[in-house]
Amino acid sequence: MSNILLETKDLRVCFKSDASVVRAADGVSFQVERGKVLGIVGESGSGKSVTSLSVMRLIPKPNGYIEGGQILFHGEDLLRKSEKEMRRIRGNKIAMIFQEPMSSLNPVFKIGEQLGEALKLHQGISGKENRRRCMEMLELVRIADPKKMLDRYPHELSGGMRQRVMIAMAILCDPELMIADEPTTALDVTIQAQILQLLRDLQKKREMSIMFITHDLGVIAEIADRVAVMYAGRIVEEAEVSTLLRSPLHPYTRGLIDAIPENYDPKFGFRSIPGMQPSAQNMPQGCSFAPRCAYACSECGRAVPELVEIQPGHTVRCILGGKGGM
Ligand code: SF4
Repeated sequence: MSNILLETKDLRVCFKSDASVVRAADGVSFQVERGKVLGIVGESGSGKSVTSLSVMRLIPKPNGYIEGGQILFHGEDLLRKSEKEMRRIRGNKIAMIFQEPMSSLNPVFKIGEQLGEALKLHQGISGKENRRRCMEMLELVRIADPKKMLDRYPHELSGGMRQRVMIAMAILCDPELMIADEPTTALDVTIQAQILQLLRDLQKKREMSIMFITHDLGVIAEIADRVAVMYAGRIVEEAEVSTLLRSPLHPYTRGLIDAIPENYDPKFGFRSIPGMQPSAQNMPQGCSFAPRCAYACSECGRAVPELVEIQPGHTVRCILGGKGGM
């Protein structure tokens, strides 16, 4: 049995407006291994959330569409599945949690009703067993009084508690893959650390794979095994987390690492990457990072650099072949 649970190959996702078509994900290829966490990191607009929504086939229509590529789950292309088949996969085999749990929880139903409904819909479990399973899930996400929680409304909970409920809902059907899209961004630092620890513990206990989307490389360091760095719709570097943090090869990754608050240097102060990510409508020729790159030269503008494997398992998209990240 292959140890690759999910694989995207040359995934291209577009959005059209009256005036133009923009490519939000451009040739994105990565693998998620069974029982491992792949972090996808990048700034807002880098294409990381679009990529995760594509895996669920939830790109907003009619303006968004998948132009090409493959999304292989257990070796089967999700892009060839019918909507009915995808409904069975979502929630059962692949679950998703978002940054803002209130966008997924219905404010007019109690937590117990929402968890119970999801369990009934996906697994056909009702009655006493349904309630028992819901309480068990709430206990698993370390909610102190699960019975009481079933009778509460989402607005009665703190942000951290709501996210725990969302995680309980996501693992209710024992999915093989969880997609977590910035699940800790809206939380304060202490609660963020608790939620990350909870996700890591659940992932290990249930041997689940996680695709963890974030803008924060510090969070990736806490939870992921491998990491893919995205910039302007493309993966620009990918490696094991420890390797990437120790020896980044792309100037953008170097900038992200320097910008982690823990890497504050009194000589330089808090550092950030100068400039802004280009908009998809206004992409520069060649390397899209060139306008912000301290190493840019005329050759960088000629063509989009290829993703090249510099060391086993460590790839980078830069003409310097890695000398720009050191
Ligand atoms: Fe910088 Fe050129 Fe490398 Fe792009 S290709 S990251 S502009 S050195």
